[in-house]
Parts: sequence; C-alpha cells; structure tokens
Amino acid sequence: MRQVLVRCCKCGTKAAIESSKEVSDTLKQLYCCCRNPECGHTFVVNMEFSHTLSPSALDLPDALRQRIQEVTPAMQGQLFG
Ligand SMILES: [Zn+2]
Repeated sequence: MRQVLVRCCKCGTKAAIESSKEVSDTLKQLYCCCRNPECGHTFVVNMEFSHTLSPSALDLPDALRQRIQEVTPAMQGQLFG
C-alpha cells in the first residue's frame, strides 16, 4: 500500500508520521514531525472519511449476500436486474 505523504505546512518538507490516533471510525489523527532540521515543526493532521463512491457489499441484506455467493459470477448480474 502506498504511504500517505504529509508535508510540513511551514516549510513544505516531507514530514515523518511518528504515531496516529483513531478518534472514530471515520477520523484518524496523524502526529507528524518535519524532517527539515532547520524547521523541526511537529503537528497533527486529521485524516477523515469523506464520502462513498461505491457502496460496501456489507451493506446488502444478508439474504441477498447469501444468494450472490451461491450463484456463478455470470448469474450474479441477474440478481440485480
Ligand atoms: Zn518544516
């Protein structure tokens, strides 16, 4: 997985993510430290869920999920037709 790139808002240098805190299911706080020795800024960045592009299969009713697993991939489209 690609790492999140955080830049220092004071000097623009890449910052190291030292630790993180799960505030909620949709919000994570990243504790960052600027790698520029002349700056040394330490700061917190909020990483927050924005919106859904494609719904999770976990949101489907259990009965429908069960049927999807039972049929062949070719037949799965017919369940939504
Ligand atoms: Zn900096």
